[in-house]
Amino acid sequence: MAPAGTRSISFALTDDQKAMQKLARDFAVNEVMPKAAELDRTMEYPEDLFKKAWELGLVNSHIPQEYGGLGLHALDGVIIAEELAYGCTGVMTAMEANSLAQAPVLVAGNDEQKKRFLAPMTEEPLKAAYGVTEPGAGSDVSGAKTKAVKKGDDWVINGNKMWITNGGVADWFFVLAKTDDTAAAGKAFTGFLVPRDTPGITVGRKEINMGQRCSDTRGISFEDVVVPDKYRLGEEGYGFKIAMKAFDFTRPPVAAGAVGLARRAMDEAMKYSMERKTFGVPIAQHQAVAFKIADMATGIEAGRMLAYKSAWLADQGLPNTHVASMAKRFAADHCQQVTYEAVQVFGGAGFNTEYPVEKLMRDARIYAIYEGTSEIQRLIISRLIFGNHDLVTP
Ligand SMILES: Cc1cc2nc3c(=O)[nH]c(=O)nc-3n(C[C@H](O)[C@H](O)[C@H](O)COP(=O)(O)OP(=O)(O)OC[C@H]3O[C@@H](n4cnc5c(N)ncnc54)[C@H](O)[C@@H]3O)c2cc1C
Repeated sequence: MAPAGTRSISFALTDDQKAMQKLARDFAVNEVMPKAAELDRTMEYPEDLFKKAWELGLVNSHIPQEYGGLGLHALDGVIIAEELAYGCTGVMTAMEANSLAQAPVLVAGNDEQKKRFLAPMTEEPLKAAYGVTEPGAGSDVSGAKTKAVKKGDDWVINGNKMWITNGGVADWFFVLAKTDDTAAAGKAFTGFLVPRDTPGITVGRKEINMGQRCSDTRGISFEDVVVPDKYRLGEEGYGFKIAMKAFDFTRPPVAAGAVGLARRAMDEAMKYSMERKTFGVPIAQHQAVAFKIADMATGIEAGRMLAYKSAWLADQGLPNTHVASMAKRFAADHCQQVTYEAVQVFGGAGFNTEYPVEKLMRDARIYAIYEGTSEIQRLIISRLIFGNHDLVTP
């Protein structure tokens, strides 16, 4: 008989989660994968795929039921994210950017703000963007210069944001702006929800990126953009905390995206290694190749467990910042390794655009950069663990 307590952990998905996983997997394989190479070439925003995914409930899945959404949990979102990323991480990022913009509203929005900004996203396939990074401030968010000044019942925003995913297609932006020049970073910024059609917003050209090329990344400038006080998110001076807290909910699915991409690259490498023969045998039978697959699979499993655990902690209302950073850091770095080795398994064909793995390698590169670089994740993890060693004590 199993000793008492051994049943307290379950790695099994519920029937609902399995159904959602299958829905996302079928969509990724049947709808996304056939279009991925062309979208990479044209860099066209995947509008049709976005609409279909939205109709299937694969986008915005965590908007609470009271605002018209499915109200799915963080863990459910992670399961969906891995599958979508398997199809194409450019497409997945275009969808995930909505979650990133919505996260601050879920963290700090009041009822009226949720009705105004979240509910309409369940009625039509609207988009949103998270505007924090600036030309001079990425890792060091406290260096952001965009300013919001109170004038009567309104705020006037001036400044420039950079590298904003969904920048050209967003119907509204979460914008972090400095509201107190004298305060420390933790109290100097305030978050605002800014409708796209507000006068004074200029969206820059679509950036030409190394990978995930169909995702829409742009600079956005704000010139005397007037926002009513009712669109201020949370208390004045709490914007930095809200912007960072959002990552507790978005790093788990981003990590899962890196896992999905790695799994896709592994599958492509396995398939090719069983077809391609050298020295009279499929290359899969050369131990050097088979061991690459073993290492890929091991890291995929480990990355998925970290992503699941970080989402599970969020769903329990427990602190998850350290595990979310571990998941993001590990899965991001592992997918670089997996895609690099997948190209190696393909040999010369791996370097060629007719085969899928060169795109996967380019797409993988961003995971160690956006939503906090791998260096910044290590900074977060180490600071938290030095502050509280119990975080890593079971
Ligand atoms: C395709 C794409 C999409 C993006 N989408 C969004 C978005 O939707 N919204 C948004 O707000 N931002 C977005 N970003 C911005 C992204 O989050 C930043 O690019 C990222 O945080 C890094 O900031 P940076 O580019 O300014 O690099 P820097 O901060 O200048 O960093 C440069 C290098 O220095 C290292 N470094 C910096 N500080 C430290 C330190 N203290 N210790 C050790 N190493 C350090 C970094 O790790 C990095 O390797 C996106 C970026 C890209 C490329």
